[in-house]
Amino acid sequence: MEKYNPYDNFLKVLADAAQAIGMKEEDYELIKYPERELKVTVPVRMDDGKIKVFDGYRVQHSTSRGPCKGGIRYHQDVNIDEVKALAAWMSFKCAVVNIPYGGAKGGIKVNPSTLSKGELERLTRRYTAMIFPIIGPEKDIPAPDVGTNAQVMDWIMDTYSMTSGYTVHGVVTGKSLEVGGSLGRPEATGRGIMIVTMKMLEKCGKKPEDVKISIQGMGNVGATAAKLLAEKGCKIVAVADVSGGLYNEDGLDIPKIYAFVKAKNLLKDYKDKDAKQVTNKEVLTAPCDILIPAALENQITAEIAKEVKCGMVIEAANGPTTVEADEILAKRNITVLPDILSNAGGVVVSYCEWVQNLQSLTWDENDVNTTLYKVMSRAFDDVYNKAKENNLSYRLSAYAVAIERICTAKKKRGLFP
Ligand code: GLU
Repeated sequence: MEKYNPYDNFLKVLADAAQAIGMKEEDYELIKYPERELKVTVPVRMDDGKIKVFDGYRVQHSTSRGPCKGGIRYHQDVNIDEVKALAAWMSFKCAVVNIPYGGAKGGIKVNPSTLSKGELERLTRRYTAMIFPIIGPEKDIPAPDVGTNAQVMDWIMDTYSMTSGYTVHGVVTGKSLEVGGSLGRPEATGRGIMIVTMKMLEKCGKKPEDVKISIQGMGNVGATAAKLLAEKGCKIVAVADVSGGLYNEDGLDIPKIYAFVKAKNLLKDYKDKDAKQVTNKEVLTAPCDILIPAALENQITAEIAKEVKCGMVIEAANGPTTVEADEILAKRNITVLPDILSNAGGVVVSYCEWVQNLQSLTWDENDVNTTLYKVMSRAFDDVYNKAKENNLSYRLSAYAVAIERICTAKKKRGLFP
């Protein structure tokens, strides 16, 4: 089998969507490639006094619609093709929800759980110094992603500020509240998932109480989505983290599981007679109405797609479904709500945070959540309507919305020089 390459996945969907709306390759040629790729070698003094070197990246896919925006990932599998794909997906995501950003992504090939807090801080500060020339509130604004959090963002903000000589809140989003973060940002991606799920249920004429959901991934996004969807009345029948999964066909005790994973526990250690221990695969293939992959890319493979027992997939991770799996799901009449729409809640509230930083204002949580709802709801309607009008899958429809917005911006700006 050929090695999975997420960037090839992006290019294939881009080509399919462009073709579906009658766009010629020369009209979208430029958005096939990132504008800029930076590879950095990051030396870190470890606690034992030795120096260890890590590979880091920052890829800027597009600046056509505004400054670049996108998270920074710390994970042992980070590589240039993954970062390129994630950067391109950010441009498309920001275009789908129509916020004035292009897309970027960064990453360091490291398993952050193997580092002490001091090592993590030194790694983050050195990486920030090395990408300093290309980031900034008007240039490229990082944010959290898999393996990074508010503390990491605070260090980035501080390093950037110390190097600049004054405090620059707007250089990064997803910070702690005390240093310019926004209310509602930690829950934003999960809240966005809840919003689009409710919109989708409304379209299908289903009530939350009648719906069973399985969620792969109990990080910030998966756990928040589980909590908010359970609060809406949905039955969460299966959940998984890196260590394994839990299943109960009548619904799991989500508040209890939420508290358990927030306390940094692994599901394999969760003990409850009403929760059966199952494997990650059993969670992906559990009988349910909605499957929510909320971990990494390449999870719903062709093999898994043949075995899933859901009516719909709502993608909370970036790129969880391969192109082959997408085709199998389509043949099986399983609806897919794509990542670039459904997981955009995070970057929408990042935008709210950045706007507050630039204006030195603080919004209350209700203002943030109301804006998030409005933006997600409008984006959902745009994608839904375009899909119905042109008989497209939601994925191709979302890509089509994004391609048109990015290419129109490019055309209006014209080519320099
Ligand atoms: N890492 C998140 C994503 O993939 C958030 C990006 C941001 O807020 O800039 O959408």
